[in-house]
Amino acid sequence: MNVANEKQYGGLDQFRIIAAILVIAIHTSPLLSMNEWADFTLTRTIGRVAVPFFFMCTGFFFLQKLGTDHNRNAYLLKPFLWKVGKLYLLSILLYLPVNVYAGYFTDGFTVFSAVKDILFNGTLYHLWYFPGIMLGVCISTFLYTRLSAWKTFWVTLLLYGIGLLGDSYFGLAQMNPYVDSIYQSMFTLFDYTRNGIFFAPVFIVMGGMIANTRRRKKKKVAPYAIGFVLFGSMLVIEGLLLHAFQLQRHDSMYIFLIPCMYFLFQLLLFWKGRNRPALRKLSLYVYVIHPLCIVLIRAAAKVTGLTGLLVENSLVHFTLVTVLSFVLSVIAMKVIPRFRGGKPDQTGRAWADIHLPHLQHNVREIQRVLPKECAVMAVVKAQAYGHGGWQVARYLNKLGINHFAVATIDEGIELRKKGVKGEILVLGYTDERRIRQIARFKLTQTIVDDEHAKKLNGYNVKIPVHIKIDTGMGRLGESWERPEKIAAMYRYKNLQVGGTFTHLSVADSLEASDIAYTKNQIARFQNVIEQLKDMGIDPQKLHVQSSYGVLNYGELHYDYARMGIALYGMLSNQGDTVKASVDLRPVLSLKARVVQVKQVEKGAAVGYGRAYSVQQDSKIAIVSIGYADGIPRMLSQAEATCLIRGKRRPIIGFVCMDQLIIDITDMEEVQVGDVVTFIGIDQDESITAEEMAQQCKTITNELVSRLGERVKRVYFD
Ligand SMILES: *Cc1c(COP(=O)(O)O)cnc(C)c1O
Repeated sequence: MNVANEKQYGGLDQFRIIAAILVIAIHTSPLLSMNEWADFTLTRTIGRVAVPFFFMCTGFFFLQKLGTDHNRNAYLLKPFLWKVGKLYLLSILLYLPVNVYAGYFTDGFTVFSAVKDILFNGTLYHLWYFPGIMLGVCISTFLYTRLSAWKTFWVTLLLYGIGLLGDSYFGLAQMNPYVDSIYQSMFTLFDYTRNGIFFAPVFIVMGGMIANTRRRKKKKVAPYAIGFVLFGSMLVIEGLLLHAFQLQRHDSMYIFLIPCMYFLFQLLLFWKGRNRPALRKLSLYVYVIHPLCIVLIRAAAKVTGLTGLLVENSLVHFTLVTVLSFVLSVIAMKVIPRFRGGKPDQTGRAWADIHLPHLQHNVREIQRVLPKECAVMAVVKAQAYGHGGWQVARYLNKLGINHFAVATIDEGIELRKKGVKGEILVLGYTDERRIRQIARFKLTQTIVDDEHAKKLNGYNVKIPVHIKIDTGMGRLGESWERPEKIAAMYRYKNLQVGGTFTHLSVADSLEASDIAYTKNQIARFQNVIEQLKDMGIDPQKLHVQSSYGVLNYGELHYDYARMGIALYGMLSNQGDTVKASVDLRPVLSLKARVVQVKQVEKGAAVGYGRAYSVQQDSKIAIVSIGYADGIPRMLSQAEATCLIRGKRRPIIGFVCMDQLIIDITDMEEVQVGDVVTFIGIDQDESITAEEMAQQCKTITNELVSRLGERVKRVYFD
């Protein structure tokens, strides 16, 4: 098994900056004052890769999440549209003054023209991108989840072809009066075919197709580089020819743009590097802000009488606009979060990032290795192993998971109060006096033995139950050796038996004797089931395996698999191997903050008990997380147990209840406010929960389930 971290696409993130600069070039024509053809080549042919690139990125990350469940797809689509829609609205508002100044509301302004602009054209020339991507993603999602990938591609390519004739190839459409009239009527609805219907979908779909076919085989870079150079040149030639023959109505869409983008995007995937979400944001801000910068520079030029230099020299103009756009964007990125009050990951002392897409990924991976008829019963006890019980359960609900297991009745009640749907099985013992709550909150109770059954039955309240059989774990459940006692548990009128289960004790081990033990447990369970059937008793749904049971005994066919630790993308121990080949991704990262940095002299004692003194003059950082937050005291004075600014650094002295101390002697750059990672990735370094658990001589299950209440959970969807 491969416990992989999130895939890294640094190349895509870095190219976003290049694409944003290309967009500025398109709107400022840097070479125009030197040579019109050179400028056309740069901005109207080469530069035209920028926007399709953004579309492909969206397709690449969004379409790969989609499946055949339309409700779930709609659930994924909604937040995307909401996010882009909000941004679009803000951008419209930002540019209202410019619109007013430019006479937008006086020259032929009607309700119809406003609606048209909002849906297709954008209220300023660059804002068409937002409705374009929303419409494009809706169309692509609709097609992609109903047709095969290739059929979707052909349909969107057809749309693109229609768009071409209204764009670069308009001259051809005009040759036929009938075709011409069709286009003229289309242009009463939108000003360009370069929009969400004809332009965006094919690129979004191509991005999605690349994402979904990527992992198949190792690839070489050369063919893609050759393809890009070849089709890129064709694109330039095509553009120049069309321009020379004056066939273009607009110049966004070209035939060779399609293969060119395919090869370019594939090429960018070879460009390694870690993800840089900040660059994603920066490129977006630059995209939104740069027309404002054009206005500002022009105004400044007018005021200072420097129009000749600042505007008419196109290269200077372009450079100024680019620099100003980046400066304003960086400022905006710093200032805007302040107005939002700061999230725990920006202001908090200790927090856990919960990366829900990885949870979804793990669910799909587990479903892939499970037999078709076996459903996932998600074990969300102990706050979903520290990930947040109801948050995880509600998210799983949306992914179509409808069976849950918790340890206690109170955990079950909390889930119900938070609106979790489906069956919730309480795995632990519940006192019979709480039976009314079991019924009221529609929980399913585990029956641990005949005595438990008898007591629960005595209340004349009907509840759903599962029967637990002990086949060698030596914990809860009626012993497999007493079939008559087991049979008795099915005969109480108030207990509606919906299932029968057992629990394996060494399914994680691949040692021969342990495998034999597990097989024996399974045989005992089967034996009990057969005996029950012989007695005319229906044991109902059966379940045996938990995470390791599935990963090592995938051949078993039961109704449910009670999945805990694997759902969260972890194994219990560092270096465990399992039989199934699944790619699990850790959902949780654990982080805290540097709250003080100080210099200490050689020999100084650090922390409680004078247990540690520094060996040389040192720099130390105090970090706001301690054992009350779930960092085990065992981690005291451990080697290289946390990450700061991409480097591994040791904890020194004893871990305190609320703080701990790390040695940062050779790190000049560390500051108060820096993030310290205990589980997760920081630049090129990472620490897995397995590694940390091993250092504390425990298993990941214990580590994450003991994360404290003070650790804020921050959810990323
Ligand atoms: C906790 C628990 C599970 C889940 O185990 P994992 O190893 O985390 O998958 C399954 N069944 C029972 C009875 C449990 O107590």
